This record gives sequence, C-alpha cells and structure tokens, in this order.
Amino acid sequence: MTGSLEEFARTKLAALEAASLRRALVETARTDGVHVERRGRRLVSFCCNDYLNLTHHPALKEAAVAAIARYGVGAGASRLVTGNHPLFAELERALARLKGTEAACVFGSGYLANTGIIPALMGADDVVLIDELAHASLWTGARLSRAKVVSFIHNDVRNVDALLDAHRGRHRRALIVTEGVFSMDGDRAPLDELTCIAARADAWLVVDDAHAVGVINGGRGSLLADSGANVLQIGTLSKAIGGYGGFLCASRHVIELVHNRARTLVYATGLPPATVAAAIAALEVIARQPEYVARPLANAKAFTTRAGLPEAQSAIVPVVVGSVARALQASELLENEGFLVVAIRPPTVPEGTARLRLTFTAAHAEADIARLAEVVRDKILAK
Ligand SMILES: *Cc1c(COP(=O)(O)O)cnc(C)c1O
Repeated sequence: MTGSLEEFARTKLAALEAASLRRALVETARTDGVHVERRGRRLVSFCCNDYLNLTHHPALKEAAVAAIARYGVGAGASRLVTGNHPLFAELERALARLKGTEAACVFGSGYLANTGIIPALMGADDVVLIDELAHASLWTGARLSRAKVVSFIHNDVRNVDALLDAHRGRHRRALIVTEGVFSMDGDRAPLDELTCIAARADAWLVVDDAHAVGVINGGRGSLLADSGANVLQIGTLSKAIGGYGGFLCASRHVIELVHNRARTLVYATGLPPATVAAAIAALEVIARQPEYVARPLANAKAFTTRAGLPEAQSAIVPVVVGSVARALQASELLENEGFLVVAIRPPTVPEGTARLRLTFTAAHAEADIARLAEVVRDKILAK
C-alpha cells in the first residue's frame, strides 16, 4: 500500500529526530567573507568554503553587475541551444590555463559536473574504483553510469592495486575516482601514486579538486605529475572561487565528447552571465595575489599548531568527536563562544565519526584563530 504521503514524511522525520540526525535549514546571513548573522547574533564563521572570502570581493561584485547590465540575469537556455553566452569561452580558457590542460567545460555546479561526466564516459561493461570517502556527487555519478562500482579504502594505494588485480580483467574500461583534498577530512590523495597505478592498469583517473583550487599550490590546486589525457580534473566555482558552478579540465576531444554526452550539460540551463563573470574575476584575483592565496592554509596550520592537532594539509581541519550527541554539543559550545562551526553527522561522514569540520579563510583574524584553538583544545578535545 502506498498510503499517505504526509504520514510517510512524518514517520521518516521522527526516525531521524530520534537518532539526532534530523537536519534543518537555519537562516544565516553572510554579510562579509568571515562573519555571519544567525539567531540574532553575529558569529565568526569557521565553516564556510569561501576560503579566499571572494563571495564579497568588490572586483567580483562589479564584474557580476556589469555582466547583468550587458547580458541580463539568466542564460535563457542550455548552452547547446542559446545559453552559451560569450563569457563562457573566457572562463574556460582561464580554467584550462590554471590547470594546464588544453580545454575546460563549465557546468551548472560541481554536483552536476560529477553526475554528468562519469556517466558520459563509463557504462555497463566498465568498472569504477572510488575512494570510500569520496563526495556524494562522485558516488552518484558512478552509480548513474551503470558501471560496476567498487570502493577502495581511503587513500590506500595498495588496496587500489589489489582491487584492480581482482576486477580489471573482467571489464572493458576502468576509472579511478578520488579527490585532491577530501572535503570532510582535509587530507590529500596520493595523486602521484594513483597516476602511476592508473597508467599501469590501463585506467583513467578522476580528481575532484573542489577544495584544492584556490588554496593549494598557489591556487592551482592539485598538481598532477603526468596530467596527460587520461586524467579528468574536476572542480567547483562555489568554494574558493566564491560563486557558483562546476568545471572539468581535460584535453580538447574529451571536452568535446562531454559537450555531446554529459546529460547535466546538455539538458540543463547554462549558468547566469553574472556568475560566469564573477568566476573570471576570481581567477584574476587568484593569479595576481599569491600571498593572499597562501593564507587559508597558513591559518589552518596556525590553528593545528595551537590546538595540538596534526598539521593541516589544507584549509579544512576535522575535529572528530565520535558520537552525534558530542558533535552537536561541541558545535553549540562554540556558538556560545561566538563561533559558527556546524556539526557534521552521518551519512555525510561514516558512522561513529561525527565531527566538527573547521575551515580557514584568508581573512580570519589571528586573534580569532588563537581563541578558537584554545576553546577546541581545552573544552572539546580535553573532554
Ligand atoms: C562541494 C563539493 C562538490 C559539489 O560542488 P557544488 O559546486 O557545490 O555543487 C563536489 N565535490 C566535492 C569534493 C565537493 O566538496
């Protein structure tokens, strides 16, 4: 029996509530790149992905406003119909330059990139090996492809090798999927080794660099020893780049194939001109200000040193507390201290690893970082 939809929703929500896993949208106004207003209070946010505070940068705002004045607020259609306004080519050239590839393709979001690209390349006869901690959008893309999906132990190259030995022979094509910087753990993938393994096993490699672009290696993100034609470098325009959208950097023919086959590009409206213009302006800021670009990672390292945690490898620092209840309590404690740090719970992270996920930006004040470290060290980790 299908039953009442209302009843179904209420029962499901009650179950989530009972497990402390019910989530809710909390109105949060971001008035600059660092502070937020929530429940009538001004807090210092350590949980935005706006690593370079570009969401509020004057050059990006100006570029967006100018693009609206010239091209209007919407793209009007998918890029293959009439939505391919002139700003796309400029942004794609800049992204290809950043990543050192022949070409690039901009998508509506990082989620749309991942769910469009993997199914455009892989099919029922193929195998996808995916890091167990890879982002939900990569998992969705892998599953939508109808390939056999096998997860490997996080960052464990020997496990990748073993799984390729076991599965490679029975499949036509193989794809290894990982992230440059892991979104909930802040650690980096062993990309040199994965590139070698991929070459040896005749596999392609996807690197989702959502949290590395604009932060690592002078803003270029993960660097691939041999970023030849067998690597697909994916990213988002919605984190360090400060706006919205996703992208793929690859060879010209791979990009052309994606134009033809990625359903999330073909059947979705192009990004608004203002969003594309803002991303172009962001890449200019990143290219011109290497010292500023180095700050999120430096701030994360300053925090880990003070808090007595392992040295940060990116702008993301996890503070794993274990239970959902403890993570919620820790988040509340920090909010009372004037910091916004949202608790991350399953299924976003594995069962038993609920955590605070701290993110550091270029504009965080040294004093705020120091005080946050003190609270985390003395009131959260010490318990
Ligand atoms: C945020 C994120 C995405 C999704 O990007 P959006 O542009 O927000 O849709 C994809 N992959 C990873 C690793 C991410 O962290």
